[in-house]
Amino acid sequence: MNIHEYQAKQLFQRFGIATPKGAAAETPDEAEKIAAELKTSNLVVKAQIHAGGRGKGTFTNGFKGGVHLCKTPREARDLAEKMVGQTLVTHQTGPAGKVVRKVLVAESVDIAREVYFAILMDRAACAPVVVASTEGGVEIEKVAEEHPERIIREPVHPLLGFQPFQALKLARRLEFEGDQLKAASKLFFSLYKLFVSLDCSLVEINPLVVTTKDAAGKQEVFALDAKFNFDDNALYRHKEIVEMRDVYEEDPREVEASKFNLNYIGLDGNIACLVNGAGLAMATMDIIKYAGGEPANFLDVGGGASEEQVTEAFKILVSDRNVKAILVNIFGGIMRCDVIAQGIINAVKTVSLPVPLVVRLEGTNVELGKKLLRESKLPIQAASDLAEAAKMVVGATNAK
Ligand code: ADP
Ligand code: MG
Repeated sequence: MNIHEYQAKQLFQRFGIATPKGAAAETPDEAEKIAAELKTSNLVVKAQIHAGGRGKGTFTNGFKGGVHLCKTPREARDLAEKMVGQTLVTHQTGPAGKVVRKVLVAESVDIAREVYFAILMDRAACAPVVVASTEGGVEIEKVAEEHPERIIREPVHPLLGFQPFQALKLARRLEFEGDQLKAASKLFFSLYKLFVSLDCSLVEINPLVVTTKDAAGKQEVFALDAKFNFDDNALYRHKEIVEMRDVYEEDPREVEASKFNLNYIGLDGNIACLVNGAGLAMATMDIIKYAGGEPANFLDVGGGASEEQVTEAFKILVSDRNVKAILVNIFGGIMRCDVIAQGIINAVKTVSLPVPLVVRLEGTNVELGKKLLRESKLPIQAASDLAEAAKMVVGATNAK
């Protein structure tokens, strides 16, 4: 699960991570009010979408940039007017862009230097790793490609956790100096604490900035942007994070599936897959590709799905216009084949079947399941094994 920048910054504040003051607005009026309450002439208005690259993005109405500095509440209002309800296209949104429903109105700071700092799960090492670079504020993927030597990787011991000496070492390598060294290492430390306590799989600050000298010659360290990913499997223990979910930002099919505790993953092909278990899902997609087809999605009904869940699953699959054929591939272990069969029959009765359907059932109550499907008289193509099922479903999409 992802959250918006303004929500990420609320979490930063809770963990004592320095970030400019601000709040989210849904209307130009609200934006003006928040700006006035900040009591400063250094303001910034930032479009809130679940995608980066906003600064360099363009709205479909022609307005350039999803991040703008301004001086007065009136200007903040005008900027919000230009952003809210509009579609912003960035290198991360894809050409369709994303509709901006909120803007963050915050204090702006004068930037002397921008660095990149992230903590993520390193699957290969089975532990967190810090990834950082002095080249902040820009696309980190570009830095990694063009100057891989400028990317710092600092592995974290999974049991000992992030150590003070590592924080200091990173602060030095990121060229923080004097007082900033302490401020930066404290920030890294707090960020690690946040990462672990909230079961994140990624926290990214790009840019983390050093401000220009103030009247007293002091420079500060601030997190100006924030991107979070949470481990979905741990969300049950973070109610406050679940409440931050913004379903407008998600694939509507995935949102619908999650209402029924189904795992749906959208892909680019035209063959829908209804399976039970992630392993079988992977094998099904592989064999579809092997047979020359492309999966449109996979929907995993899990081990103990009810008839109702199967019905809903089926509805989600047929509602996708890209789908040209459906493959149901079930290995009934805990799942009973007759439950699946009944779910399919119910669903087809309510939504009708716009595309060919190939079913391969195996395991518990398989005979009963097949009998139900036969007697339903639905136009189902029954396959006896996985390879045959894949050939049939690919054949069915080509025939269309
Ligand atoms: P994105 O990564 O989506 O483009 P950022 O939050 O990183 O959005 O903003 C883009 C750029 O705008 C930053 O690299 C920074 O230079 C500037 N910026 C963002 N927030 C502030 C702020 N509070 N004060 C001053 N400049 C900012
Ligand atoms: Mg950024």
